[in-house]
Amino acid sequence: MSSLLKKLLEINAASGFENEMREFLKERLRPVVDEISTDSLGTLICSKYGPNKKPKVMIAAHMDEIGMLIKFIDENGFLYFAPLGGIHTQAIVNQSVIIQTEKGPIPGILGTKSIHQQSEKERKQPLEMDSIFIDVGATNREDVENLGISIGNPVIWQSPLKELANNRVSGKAFDNRIGIYILINVLEQAQFDGDLIGAFTVMEEIGLRGAKTSAFSIEPDVGLALDVAAAGDYPSIKHSNIKMGAGPTITIASGRRASLGGGFVVHPKVFRLLVDVAKKNDIPYQLEIFQGGTTDVTSIALSRGGIPCGSIGIPARYLHTPVELLSMKDVENAIKLILFALKKIHTIF
Ligand SMILES: [Zn+2]
Repeated sequence: MSSLLKKLLEINAASGFENEMREFLKERLRPVVDEISTDSLGTLICSKYGPNKKPKVMIAAHMDEIGMLIKFIDENGFLYFAPLGGIHTQAIVNQSVIIQTEKGPIPGILGTKSIHQQSEKERKQPLEMDSIFIDVGATNREDVENLGISIGNPVIWQSPLKELANNRVSGKAFDNRIGIYILINVLEQAQFDGDLIGAFTVMEEIGLRGAKTSAFSIEPDVGLALDVAAAGDYPSIKHSNIKMGAGPTITIASGRRASLGGGFVVHPKVFRLLVDVAKKNDIPYQLEIFQGGTTDVTSIALSRGGIPCGSIGIPARYLHTPVELLSMKDVENAIKLILFALKKIHTIF
C-alpha cells in the first residue's frame, strides 16, 4: 500500500475536528497547486488554474470521519458519548478508541456488559447506544479530569490497517480517506486547461455541511464528489450488482432508502461524459443507485441556481465500522476515469 494512503489513515479527523488532516493536506499540496485557502467552516480549497479558466471544475472529498463526542462523565470515571455521524452500534462494541484532549490522545475501550453477566433476554437484543460507555482505566471523575479529558473531546476508534488478498485493504476511515487519496492524485497528475478546484470538505458525515458553503463560494461550472459506495458482493446483501474490483461506481441517484428523497440525481450531461470516457478508454465502471444515504454531491448540486454534478464511488464493505474494506484496483481506475473526463469536459461545459 502507498505510504500516502497509510499516512491518511493514521490521521484522526472526526466531523468538526478536521484540523490534523487540513494541516497535512496543506503541506502536501502546497507545491502542487497555485492557491490554497480555508473557508470559515474549515474546508480546504486547493486551486490549480489553467490557461482557459473555463470550465471551473470542483472536485470534493470529505476530510471528516465517523466519530463520537464525550458528553457525560460519571462519578466512577466512565465516559458517555454522542455519535458524530451514522454509527452502526453493534459494530463498535468493545472496540479501542482514542480521545483527543488538550494533553494529547488518551486510549480507551468501548465497554459493555460481558456475555456471562447478560440475562437470556439481553443476549437476544441488540445493544442500545446509550448502554455503551468508554473505559479509560479511571476510577473516578477526578481521575478522568486529570488525564485532560473534558466534555466535547472527540473520540475516534482505532483499528490496525490490514492488507488482504487480491489487493484488498481494510481499516478505519476508508470513508473517505480513499476519496482524499484519489483527489490528491488527480491534483498532482491533471493537465487541465480550465480551473481545477479540489475541495477537502468538513462535516460531510453530519449533514454535507462543508460542501454546501464551499460550493457556494467556489461557484463551479460542474461538480464532482468522490466517496465510498456500498458494495453488494458479500453475504446477506440483496438486489445489488456492485462488486469490489469491478470498477468505480458512477452514481445515478442517491438518497433516503424509502424514497431517494433528500439526495441527488446525476446531471445527464455529466453522466454521459463519465460513461463515454470510461467506455472509450476501457475503464471498468458500475452504475449505482445508492439507497440509504448520500454524499457531498447533493450539497454541491443544490448550490446557487443548481450545479451540474456527478459522483464517483469506490465500492466498499462494512461501511461506518472500524473495518471498512475495499479494493485498490477500483482506486486506480477511478483516478484514470477522472483524468480522462477532465480532458473531455470542455466539450460539454
Ligand atoms: Zn463518506
